[in-house]
Amino acid sequence: MKFKMFSVIVGTEACMASCPFCVSGVKPSKENLEERNINWRNLKIAANLANRSDIDTVMLTSRGEPTLFPEQITEYLKNLSEFQFPFIELQSNCIPISLNKEKYEKYLKEWYEEGLTTITISVVSNRAESNRKIYMPNSDKYIDLPDLIKYLHSFGFSLRLTCVCCKDMMDTVDKVQEFINFAKENKVEQVTLRPVNDEFRRKSAEEWIKENKLTDKQKQQIKDYLEEKGTKLLELERIGTIYDVNGQNVCLSLPLNKYTRDTNPENARNLIFFQDGHIRYEWEMEGGILL
Ligand code: SF4
Repeated sequence: MKFKMFSVIVGTEACMASCPFCVSGVKPSKENLEERNINWRNLKIAANLANRSDIDTVMLTSRGEPTLFPEQITEYLKNLSEFQFPFIELQSNCIPISLNKEKYEKYLKEWYEEGLTTITISVVSNRAESNRKIYMPNSDKYIDLPDLIKYLHSFGFSLRLTCVCCKDMMDTVDKVQEFINFAKENKVEQVTLRPVNDEFRRKSAEEWIKENKLTDKQKQQIKDYLEEKGTKLLELERIGTIYDVNGQNVCLSLPLNKYTRDTNPENARNLIFFQDGHIRYEWEMEGGILL
C-alpha cells in the first residue's frame, strides 16, 4: 500500500478550547491529562511503511490539543528521527504556548533540535474577536497572534495558519483577502483555508455545522478569487490546490471525507498511527485498519 500523509496521534482528546465544530471537544480532566502509553514497536512499523510510500511529511496531531503533552511530542520526535522524514509538523491551537511561554521555551528548543520543522496554528480568522469566540469563549480576550507568530519564528520554525472557514468568520473574498494580508505582514510561510467539514463526526456539532458551514456559492467565490488573483502552483490530488497570492502561499484544502477517498491501495490518503499501536487508513471508519 502507498500513502500520501502520515499522521501520528499525540495526547488525548483533552483541549482547553471547545470549538463547536471539534471532532471531540472534551475539556481537560485529571483522567484525560494522563499520558497514554505508546506502542513504540508499532510506531516503527508505521514509519517504515510511510518511508516506503515516500511520504515527506509527518503530522503530529491529536483529537484534542497536543501541546498539553509536551514531553510526548519530544519522545515522538526522538523516535521518528531515524526515519529521516524531511518535514515534521505539529498541529496546534498554540494557546498553551502563548499563555505560558516560560514553560514551553525549553520544549520549543528541544522540538526544533529534534527535527520539528513546522507549526500549524489553528484559527478561524485573523481577527482576535472571531478567534476568541471560537477558541476562548470564556475569556475576555484571545491570545496575541502576531506576538505568537514572532515568538515561534524566533526558534526557527516555519509556520502555517490553518483557517477553518465558517459563516461570518471566513466566508467572503474580502475576509480571505484580509487574512492573506495578515499572513504576509506577519511573514507566515503558509496559509491553509479549509471550509468547515460538513460531514458531522460528533453529534453535538451537527447543528452548529449545519448553521455555520459555507454555502457552495461562498466556497466557489473564494476559489474563483484565488484562481483569478493567484497563480496556481500545485494541485495535490485529494488534498487541495496551492496558489501564490501576491507572494503568499495559500492552500485551498479539500475536506477529509468519502469524496476524497481512493480505494486504490497504491493511492491511499492517510496513514494514521494511534498510541495503542493501531495503524489505520481511515479516521472514522473502524474497518479501515491495518494493524
Ligand atoms: S482547538 Fe482543536 S482540539 Fe481544541 S476544541 Fe478546537 S478543534 Fe477541538
